[in-house]
Amino acid sequence: MAKICVFCASSSRISESYFQVTREMGAAIAEQGHTLVWGGGRVGLMGALAIAVQEKGGRVIGVIPEKLRIREVAYTRSDELIVTDTMAERKTRMIDESDAFVTLAGGYGTLDEMLEVLTLRQLGYHDKPIYLVNTDGFYDSLLGFLHQLEHTGFVRETPVPLYEVVNHPHELIGRIL
Ligand code: AMP
Repeated sequence: MAKICVFCASSSRISESYFQVTREMGAAIAEQGHTLVWGGGRVGLMGALAIAVQEKGGRVIGVIPEKLRIREVAYTRSDELIVTDTMAERKTRMIDESDAFVTLAGGYGTLDEMLEVLTLRQLGYHDKPIYLVNTDGFYDSLLGFLHQLEHTGFVRETPVPLYEVVNHPHELIGRIL
């Protein structure tokens, strides 16, 4: 059984369709017997994800910096809540704890986490799979830019792609789920 790390939005001011996909992601993690590792928040997609995993009998491990925890955004029903001193330590801990990474729709925090795991894989610090869930083309413009980086020589093309894009979490079943 694997630990699946999911990065996703802390915002709630987003379309219901993103919540639906997030709940399906959470249900799939639990149904396949895996554990969720995530940012430990109860807000936005993050909270919906953790609840969906637990509703299907799955286990959730939150990794949250003290500053965010005391602002009362922590999901207090985590099966395990790891509290770190800094955001940087939190990312390291999430990466070390997990076997694979999945990015759902999100904002700056999500992009930061996704790009960090990508950079670390490129540099050989880890070799864990990375998936981007491109719900309704949410990441089309980012993907266009990432391809541009390769075409213009800013990013080296690798024999094995550093990340894979799927349209829906169900496509992860049989790969990492
Ligand atoms: P964002 O995409 O900017 O909404 O940030 C979401 C990502 O950053 C999540 O994957 C979290 O790990 C982290 N994050 C941002 N805001 C929070 C919060 N209020 N509580 C916990 N984690 C957060």
